[in-house]
Amino acid sequence: MVNARAVILRRIPFGDTSWILHAFSAEEGAISLMARGARRTGSPLAGAVEPLGLSEMVISMKPGRDLQTLSQATALEQRDGLRRDLVATAGAMVCAEIVLRLAREPGAHPGVFGILEDALFGFDQGGFCPPILWRFLARFCEEMGWALAVDHCAHCGTEDLAPNPVLSLSFGGFLCRACGTLSHEPHLPVDFAVALRQSRAGAQGRWSRQESERIEEIWFEHLFRHSQTRPKLESRPFLSEVRP
Ligand SMILES: [Zn+2]
Repeated sequence: MVNARAVILRRIPFGDTSWILHAFSAEEGAISLMARGARRTGSPLAGAVEPLGLSEMVISMKPGRDLQTLSQATALEQRDGLRRDLVATAGAMVCAEIVLRLAREPGAHPGVFGILEDALFGFDQGGFCPPILWRFLARFCEEMGWALAVDHCAHCGTEDLAPNPVLSLSFGGFLCRACGTLSHEPHLPVDFAVALRQSRAGAQGRWSRQESERIEEIWFEHLFRHSQTRPKLESRPFLSEVRP
């Protein structure tokens, strides 16, 4: 038996009474669990297997098995704020789906767990706000070893950058004035450069939906380039449908 604190990323009905859970735990990383009987009324697991919730779990773990067995679960965070707010839920679902699709390596990854929890907590407490998503994307890239170079030149390393540097995703970030000539890509508007630079710490200011989506597009493009997969995130069109 193993104890783990885990966020439920997705659940799929199994048979008449059970769920298969895809979860991400602080202690074990990505795990798939059979929650037997959890859909029965009065199941002791009910309430602790909600998508996007955080639960304390007791898992019957057999090494080498793809699907582990959830023995006990207690809800630690039910995130009532998300239940009342569709846009916040959509933002949280984007973060959960990125972890589900891209953080698949076995073993603990406390950094990824921490930033996922931060983002879900932020959406739950404060509703949807684009900088929470940008912060998640920036820190997720960093945790996976794919940090975008925003405070130095991605090519030569100098910190002497123009306020409107060239952004080159093939070089992995901003380029200084000299290195910018290596790329045919356009200069980034100043406020976009500021938003990307501040993403990790939480960008300030008010952003239109169009600006927000453009900044997110840069982060997603960068993320997918490095992950070497181009997962079709179902939650992205959902967020774009419901966001203000
Ligand atoms: Zn340079």
